[in-house]
Amino acid sequence: MGTTITLTVVATSETVANTALNAGFATVAEMERLFSSYRQDSVLAQVNRAAGGEPVSVPGDFVTLALLARKATEVSEGAFNPLVGPAVRLWGIPENPRVPDEAELTALRPLVSDPQGLAIDEFSHRVRLREPGMALGYGGIAKGFTADKVTEVLQGHGIAGGIVAIAGDIRVFGTHPDGTPWRVGVRPPREGEGSGPLATLEMTGGAVSTSGDYERFFELDGVRYHHILDPRTLWPAKAGTVSVTVTAHSGALADALATALFVMGPVEGLALAERMPRVEALFVDTTGTQSATSGWPGTEFLREPPANGLRD
Ligand code: ADP
Ligand code: MG
Repeated sequence: MGTTITLTVVATSETVANTALNAGFATVAEMERLFSSYRQDSVLAQVNRAAGGEPVSVPGDFVTLALLARKATEVSEGAFNPLVGPAVRLWGIPENPRVPDEAELTALRPLVSDPQGLAIDEFSHRVRLREPGMALGYGGIAKGFTADKVTEVLQGHGIAGGIVAIAGDIRVFGTHPDGTPWRVGVRPPREGEGSGPLATLEMTGGAVSTSGDYERFFELDGVRYHHILDPRTLWPAKAGTVSVTVTAHSGALADALATALFVMGPVEGLALAERMPRVEALFVDTTGTQSATSGWPGTEFLREPPANGLRD
């Protein structure tokens, strides 16, 4: 995935830990083979190549993620939209960045704006992009989804507690061996701005994701162009936000919402997070000012018993 992945586990023996960790990393590799935008041989690349053509048979996990992404598009009223794929490609962030012409972006808009652009047959596990030129990008949700999958796999191997961190997308379960909660630091948005974490969350369950303009971006003539696009304009979302951190019970939801809220900006974004149960959010703007939902960071649901009970 071109990102740093850290797995932390509490196990009854080193053998159990190693077996579980190997299975966890194998799951990461499997998800990368499904969802990578960088690999020509990923299932996602195959679906994109078939745009406008025949439906493509995909594994069940692909269908699951596609449906979750569609839900995220619905709840965010289009702020989260994996069909921005062609525009992400055009901007070339971060590999070959350039500022596209307005005309190029205008030409892409119809390929992005159709909410039914991806047909999903959840029974036969087939998907199809309706028009040639359409392309999916699951970069805004796949890491959180992968964190969920890895958590399930670790728990299935008898791991009582751990942290699955895929870049800025973190899933937590169980506790330290002494029963105390994990402490997860939320990084400050930009190097050199303030010291220490923005927040330290005590968690025994749930997920936390951060999206920001500071990880993948380029600068041209003093303007900073980052990798989260406003699906309506196909320009980098510019709502004066530096970072958005979301807590939720699932990694996929936290990841997708962090991206969506970044696009929406603090006013609409915090209103959406307030309406959603077990979702909290923290915004940091370009002046360093923080604003958050009334329940931030969600101490109640972040302190939950492990999903499948403690195994001593
Ligand atoms: P990161 O990849 O740094 O964790 P995000 O989770 O916010 O950041 O995802 C950003 C990625 O999602 C982009 O690199 C792009 O591939 C894709 N993307 C960009 N804009 C959107 C959007 N509005 N909705 C859904 N995905 C997006
Ligand atoms: Mg995201």
